[in-house]
Amino acid sequence: LYNIVQDLKGNIRVYCRIRPVFNDEAGSIVDFIGQDDSLAISDPSKPQSEGRKIFNFNKVFGPTCSQNDIYADIQPLIRSVMDGYNVCIFAYGQTGSGKTHTMSCPSGGSSEEDMGISHLALNDLFRLSNMRKDDAEYEIQVHMVEIYNEQVRDLLAEDSANTKFEICSADGGSMSLSDATMHSVKSTADVIRLMKLGDDNRVISSSTALNDRSSRSHSILTVQVSGKEISGCTLQSCLHFVDLAGSSERVENPEEAMYINKSLSCLGDVITALAQKNSHIPYRNSKLTLLLQDSLSPGGRTKTLMFAHINPERDSFAETISTLKFAQRVSTD
Ligand code: ADP
Ligand code: MG
Repeated sequence: LYNIVQDLKGNIRVYCRIRPVFNDEAGSIVDFIGQDDSLAISDPSKPQSEGRKIFNFNKVFGPTCSQNDIYADIQPLIRSVMDGYNVCIFAYGQTGSGKTHTMSCPSGGSSEEDMGISHLALNDLFRLSNMRKDDAEYEIQVHMVEIYNEQVRDLLAEDSANTKFEICSADGGSMSLSDATMHSVKSTADVIRLMKLGDDNRVISSSTALNDRSSRSHSILTVQVSGKEISGCTLQSCLHFVDLAGSSERVENPEEAMYINKSLSCLGDVITALAQKNSHIPYRNSKLTLLLQDSLSPGGRTKTLMFAHINPERDSFAETISTLKFAQRVSTD
C-alpha cells in the first residue's frame, strides 16, 4: 500500500525547506511561494523586476512549516522501509540553513514538537513493527558514521576516534559498511542515546567545536530493518539519514573545501544519473556515494529524497542560489 502511494511520486524527489528569518533587519529574499511548489528569489542588489528567479520542486516548505508537517508528507516513504525499500534522505544546504534541525534537531529534540524527522521516523517504525507483531518479527539496528575529508569513521565504536575503516568491497563490487558497529534498538530513546554518544565522539576527535566540525563532515545515521514473516518470508532494508557537510562558496580551509565540494558534486552526479536513468552511475568517485550505493541504485526498490535547505536572509543570496541550482540539477523534471 505504501509503495503504491510512493510509486506515484517517483523514486527521486527533491524538496526545498526555507528556514525562518531570525534577524528581522536582514529581510527575506524569498518573495513568493507558489501553490504549485515553486518559489521566487529576488536579488537584493537589483531592482525587483530584474533580479527575480523562479525555481520548482516536488515540494516547497515555507518558514512556518513544522516538523510534523514535514513528517506527515514523508511518512509513506518511511513506512515503505518496512516493505523492503531502501531509502536515503539527504539534508543539503549551507551551514545554518536548518539541515540538522530537519534531520535530528540538536540536543536530542527533547520536546515532541521539536523532534526531527529521524526521531519521528523511528517512533513510527517501532509503532509499526509493534502493530504487525502477530504477522512478522522485526529487528531494528542502527549505526552512525562520519565522513570527514574522505575518511569514514564509526561514531559508535568503542574507540571511535581511532576507528577509521575502509569501505569493503563485498562479493562482486557491492560496497557495505560491514565493519561499522550495529546496535540493536528497541525504542527511539535507545536511538537518541546512541546519537548522543555519536555526537560526543565527533567532538572528542576534533579540536574544534561540534558545530564547526559537524558542518564540515557528512554524518549518516543508518537504520536497518530485518523482518521475518510468519509465512517464512524475510526482508532486509535500510533507511539512511544523511546530514551533509555545509555547502559553501566561501573557502576557509582549502583542503576541507575541496573534499566537501568534491563529495557533494559526486552526490549530485549520482542522483542526476539515476534521475536520467543513465546506464553508468558514478558511485566510485566519493566515499559517500560508495557507502550508499545499495540504497541509491536504479530500479524498483530504492527511494531518494533530497531536502534543499535555504536561509532566506539577504546576505545568503549567493549561497541560496547555489543551493537551489544544485537541487534543480538533481530534480527529475
Ligand atoms: P545546519 O545544520 O544547516 O547548519 P541548523 O539545523 O543547526 O543548521 O540550524 C541553524 C539554527 O536555526 C539552529 O539554531 C536551528 O534551531 C534554527 N532553525 C533551523 N531551521 C529552523 C526552522 N525551520 N524553524 C526554527 N528554527 C530553525
Ligand atoms: Mg548541522
